[in-house]
Amino acid sequence: MDSEGHRLDPEDWGEFARQMHALLDACLERMETARDLPWRPVPEGFAGKVALDGDAHGAQTAFAALVDDIMPKATGNTHPRFWGWVHGTGLPVAVGAEMAAATMNANVGGRWQGATEVERAVLHQLTGIAGMDATASGILTGGTSQATLLALQTARLRAFGTGLRQSGIAGLPPVSVYVAEGGHSCIAKALEILGHGAQSLRHIPLDGGFRMDVGALSSAIAEDRRAGRTPLAIVGTAGSVGIGAFDDLSALADLAAAENIWLHVDSAFGFWLRLADPPLRDRVDGIGRADSIALDLHKWIGVPYDCGACLIADADLHREAFTTRPDYLAQGADGLAGGDHWFCDYGLDLSRGFRALKVWTAFKSLGLAAFGAAIRDNCRQAALMGQLVDAAPDLELAAPVLSNICCFRVPGKDPGDLAARLQIAGQAVFSTTRVDGEPCLRAAIVNHRTTTADIHAAIDAVRAIAAQP
Ligand SMILES: *Cc1c(COP(=O)(O)O)cnc(C)c1O
Repeated sequence: MDSEGHRLDPEDWGEFARQMHALLDACLERMETARDLPWRPVPEGFAGKVALDGDAHGAQTAFAALVDDIMPKATGNTHPRFWGWVHGTGLPVAVGAEMAAATMNANVGGRWQGATEVERAVLHQLTGIAGMDATASGILTGGTSQATLLALQTARLRAFGTGLRQSGIAGLPPVSVYVAEGGHSCIAKALEILGHGAQSLRHIPLDGGFRMDVGALSSAIAEDRRAGRTPLAIVGTAGSVGIGAFDDLSALADLAAAENIWLHVDSAFGFWLRLADPPLRDRVDGIGRADSIALDLHKWIGVPYDCGACLIADADLHREAFTTRPDYLAQGADGLAGGDHWFCDYGLDLSRGFRALKVWTAFKSLGLAAFGAAIRDNCRQAALMGQLVDAAPDLELAAPVLSNICCFRVPGKDPGDLAARLQIAGQAVFSTTRVDGEPCLRAAIVNHRTTTADIHAAIDAVRAIAAQP
């Protein structure tokens, strides 16, 4: 039989359909029972088990390995007591979207196709939530790290002109970017990649309310200007990764406007307080005045990894910063090469997947109010954890609970060891950080499955484990 044109598709679609349905059933069962499935250590010999030999084993064998071997070795962030780092929990409706997106296999880099309009609809929703002008631009990215790189490149072109794309940065004066103490490492990384080096990032101390000290920022800018440095951007933090602190974004926007400096906001998870009620929502007041915003959809919104967004107020500048149209990407008047919005003009990637569909499906099916309620629950749960810690004689808070993060210590015990023991016992996942130089346990709650009972159970588990020798 001539298999040309059929080599990689199923030979028997009926049989394949049965295998796919079985896989879907296994996925659904796993999602439905997520509460019973905490992280489990990766067993000895797992790498050997998944090693590839180059031979064809068939979909049946491959799918069986997915269900029996690979899916159970997940990070466990689908579990209600997972609060380590800042991990999203995953949305069942978005699994459906991922299946449809993979079926369409759209390349959303450009061309005249429906997927582009879906991404634009998602971005319009996001700029609307931010309170930016309706003309604002944006692009979905792999996460906040990539969004930060795009935002700072755009800021740099506003400061020095888009001719910089051709000339490069060799002739530029040294630049400075400002962020509060506790700002995320992705900002320094973006500056490394942009060629300014991490040393161009200046960390500004916090004020008594855990916000960037605007007076200190103002002095740092003046000092840099005197020294011949160009202030490139102020990076406001809306939800610091360590303790969930929020800068006064309105004050930063005022200063940025007065000094004519780009204002970028890192709101990887904090962005979503825009969906909560006051007073939580007030923490992100002023975010709509930013020149650019980086945020994640894979954290608090919980779409399956990965998805973030970069929002940019000046749509023309955004396009000028990234557009490149060689002959093989020429726009057509009509047909597939038509369409006036090509996302390859707005970011790094030429070929890019249909990330927008899982976000669109999440918003379309669940509505923004449900996310707002889940976010409010998480902040209430973090506050409760803080109260339980305060009330326990053997525990001590490391920082006040400002939003959805609770940092605490068990005096005399090593937080890294406690966290690992709780994880291995399958009881709860905390991660660790330092507050005021001292190590502590940290729960960053962006988990729509967490209940009040989970918070009580986890604190009980911490105390029980800490009481063991
Ligand atoms: C997670 C996080 C980032 C980095 O985002 P990625 O999506 O992981 O690239 C940046 N800033 C803050 C505050 C974060 O929590």
